[in-house]
Amino acid sequence: MEPFGSLRTDGAGTLRSADLDRRVVLGGWVASSRDHGGVVFLDLRDRSGVVQVVAEAEGVRDAAGALRGEFVVRVEGTVRARPAGTVNPGLSTGEVEVEATAITVLSPSLTPPFPVADDIETDEALRLRHRYVDLRRPRMASAIILRARAVQVIRRVMEANGFLEIETPILTKSTPEGARDFLVPARLAPGRFYALPQSPQLFKQLLMVAGMERYYQIARSFRDEDQRADRQLEFTQLDLEASFVVEADIHALLEEVFATLWSELLGVEIPLPLPRLSFSEAMRRFGSDKPDTRYGLELVELDKVVADTGFQVFAAALGAGGTVVGLRLPGGGDLSRREFDELVDFARGRGAKGLVWMVAEPGGELRSPVRKFLSDAEVAGLRDALGAEDGDAVFLAADPQVRAAQELLGAVRVELARRRGLVPEPGTRPTRWDFLWVTAPPMFEWDAEGGRWDAAHHPFVQPSPEFRDTFDERPGEATATAFDLVLNGVELGTGSLRIHDPAMQQRVFALLGIAPEEAQERFSFLLRGLSYGAPPHGGMGLGLDRIVMLMAGRSSIRDVIPFPKLQSGGDPLTDAPSTVEPRQLTDLGIAVRPAKR
Ligand code: ASP
Repeated sequence: MEPFGSLRTDGAGTLRSADLDRRVVLGGWVASSRDHGGVVFLDLRDRSGVVQVVAEAEGVRDAAGALRGEFVVRVEGTVRARPAGTVNPGLSTGEVEVEATAITVLSPSLTPPFPVADDIETDEALRLRHRYVDLRRPRMASAIILRARAVQVIRRVMEANGFLEIETPILTKSTPEGARDFLVPARLAPGRFYALPQSPQLFKQLLMVAGMERYYQIARSFRDEDQRADRQLEFTQLDLEASFVVEADIHALLEEVFATLWSELLGVEIPLPLPRLSFSEAMRRFGSDKPDTRYGLELVELDKVVADTGFQVFAAALGAGGTVVGLRLPGGGDLSRREFDELVDFARGRGAKGLVWMVAEPGGELRSPVRKFLSDAEVAGLRDALGAEDGDAVFLAADPQVRAAQELLGAVRVELARRRGLVPEPGTRPTRWDFLWVTAPPMFEWDAEGGRWDAAHHPFVQPSPEFRDTFDERPGEATATAFDLVLNGVELGTGSLRIHDPAMQQRVFALLGIAPEEAQERFSFLLRGLSYGAPPHGGMGLGLDRIVMLMAGRSSIRDVIPFPKLQSGGDPLTDAPSTVEPRQLTDLGIAVRPAKR
């Protein structure tokens, strides 16, 4: 492709043998220079790649010799074949070089704070402080380019399906997605605040009431949460909503989006339709609501096998209405005692009382610290139920809470897969892509501390049809018309059908302990909207940063965000957050108190 901008004729990385003898004008950064006594070799880098420039002629040689790394230069010259034996097959331009006839410095550079190269070990704060240099590193640049391409593909598929890209406000009112809000003081209404949107949820629902029928947005969202590798205070969602739809319509749309992304950008064909798993089956088989199905290690319920056990730990769990679950690690008998202990510590670190491990041995035995508490019949029953063969290890979890036992073993399952190398290291591109829909999750969660029900996702989700009448009588049983899209054990996004009946919405608020006056105060605009002819509608929000992170084979979303913040929330580039002028505070009617320590 011709480079954009009249100051150049070609992109450095685009030159090939077909360009031999052409006169070209290039512009870019000096990636490196080598003075071979009489000849200076430069690597010239621009967004399209790198080409070798040779400065032999007098005058040009001196100009080239004076260049330093990251100077911006203009090079005029002729494309020629590299001499035999110097072809570089590792470089797309490796068959050619540019014989310079003129070199001009357009802009000098200080010595960069770290080398512009892929394999560097540099403090992340330093990289972010000089992000403009960091993004010149080919690996970083390729992630940002991939992100732009991904957004382009998404827009194309959404538009082809009749979706309209519509903006929603950034200065708005709190939208409950379960995180803390960022607040912005309103100068024109002292004592009042806008909230930055945790998602465009309520606006997109109102767009459905407005008859827009199909909406999408590449939407920035803000959640004041503690930072993790895959979270940022501000992040980007592919946000969408559609009217007159059922769950399967939304699934089919997103399947087209993902199959197209993977096919066009990664050259990988994803077989459709994607598998679906109910939440309860996901918990039962994998101990997770976002199971990684690239490997087996499935959970097995063992309640019947140990129903009459004398082993106190199991008996207590079962007696309290809980469960005993196990999983088999084929060949796991080769784990050392220290490794078993580490796994027990891992379980304890997650708040479990413990984790039982056993090794299947010849003669139908199970070697384990708890063997003495089990009868021979139980040992035989456990081996049988788990399908354990000699040399396998098995792990068992017991808990009065069924979900807790499943989640513990689900976490052990993921840890075992990591330790046994069943999945590629984080930060490398996987060879297998297991997409999966997880459907019909619980609608509410009991908050024991607060002594109340919380919406498992957000309060606008419609209950599953069989719970429409009864969800407020038996909230613990009610499932929702919600679904998650999961990829290799990572949740990419959540969607649902929404409540479009104001009376039902009021019932949900009431169950959540939101009094009618409070509902009025916080959500009257939604309730009002729902009262003016709301079509049935549903939609989804997907984390674009995470999607691109997985596509690019990175382990942190910071690697696919042009200007991310550190884990601490700080931005080393701009030094935000920062103090402000006293006058600004006065204008806002705000007095800052010293932070509590
Ligand atoms: N608003 C939801 C979220 O941000 C997504 C959705 O339900 O569409 O998680």
